[in-house]
Amino acid sequence: MAKEKMASQTEVTPEGALVDVFGRPLRDLRISITDRCNFRCVYCMPKEVFGADHQFLERAEILTFEEIERLARLFAARGVTKVRITGGELLVRKDVEKLIGKLSSIGGLDIALTTNGALLAKKAGSLKDAGQNRVTVSLDSLDDRVFRAMNDVDFPVERVLKGIEAARKAGLSPVKINMVVKRGVNDGSVIPMARRFRAEGTIVRFIEYMDVGTTNGWRMADVVPAAEILEALHREMPLEAVAASYRGEVAGRYRYLGGGEVGVIASVTQPFCGDCTRARISAEGKLYTCLFSARGHDLRALLRSGAGDDELLRSIDAVWGARGDRYSELRASATPGSEKVEMSYIGG
Ligand code: SAM
Ligand code: SF4
Ligand code: SF4
Repeated sequence: MAKEKMASQTEVTPEGALVDVFGRPLRDLRISITDRCNFRCVYCMPKEVFGADHQFLERAEILTFEEIERLARLFAARGVTKVRITGGELLVRKDVEKLIGKLSSIGGLDIALTTNGALLAKKAGSLKDAGQNRVTVSLDSLDDRVFRAMNDVDFPVERVLKGIEAARKAGLSPVKINMVVKRGVNDGSVIPMARRFRAEGTIVRFIEYMDVGTTNGWRMADVVPAAEILEALHREMPLEAVAASYRGEVAGRYRYLGGGEVGVIASVTQPFCGDCTRARISAEGKLYTCLFSARGHDLRALLRSGAGDDELLRSIDAVWGARGDRYSELRASATPGSEKVEMSYIGG
């Protein structure tokens, strides 16, 4: 980590991008557009916590598409080049295509989506028509029994596979797959997933199970380290490392010797805070500078108080300029059970 600068100053890179106390520029913005979801993945929204009486945000509490577009423009002015729309499950929000259209009109932004794929068969065509190019689908197993147990709403894997197929047919490209690996639950699905998607020319990224939020009962023993996943893959299908395509790329990239690519995201065993350029906005408009933050900065209050762009930009500058987060690097010494925001609220 670079030496800390004085927290009160706002610094910029030679290209004008805002940097934090460790010199990390603001490049990526993840926007959660809903805290609701049609799945109850055991590692994210356990049913016992997110049950029938769980209080989700009211409609009036979540940012409107106009508010999201305004913020995206301001963040783009501060150096953001990539926006990922996430949730909860973003496709459950009505008219999400309208938001894609608005964000596409900003220009110069790479717009990505992460979805559980349940509604993708229905939505792929309209997303493409709205200007969306790529899509990331989360899929934790090809084994229907394992998949149903992980999403915990008995959702069949076949319907997600149909969604992936529909995305390809609609011309969404690339389609990438994310799989969270939990020991003893879906680690047996790693090789079948790798084989199938390699054959289809689709990149799968295997993600270490993280201690996000406070409700998933995370234990280090449930994490399958990326190194172990790579060894298992290499035994079946020999691999070689590929250089990162840009600084701050979170996935370690590998090439199968016979062709095709695969990735691992080792957020627990090989933290990458030093290159973390991501800000996150929750569905109710709070700005978080780390996935593991306890508190966010209320941009919605500013937006709805009639603040001008200058005031909003000053606020963004102050928050990013003071950012010193590096939770994953400190994880070993962090207090278990410390206050942290939930993944379904802040987005992955
Ligand atoms: N609902 C969408 C989905 O599942 O793709 C978007 C939101 S979800 C919170 C974003 C990503 O975070 C998904 O790929 C999900 O698998 C991942 N995720 C959720 N909880 C996680 C955890 N505890 N550890 C690692 N990844 C997690
Ligand atoms: Fe929903 Fe995505 Fe969380 Fe699963 S990982 S519960 S699909 S938000
Ligand atoms: Fe970025 Fe926080 Fe994750 Fe580190 S722990 S990589 S700072 S989000």
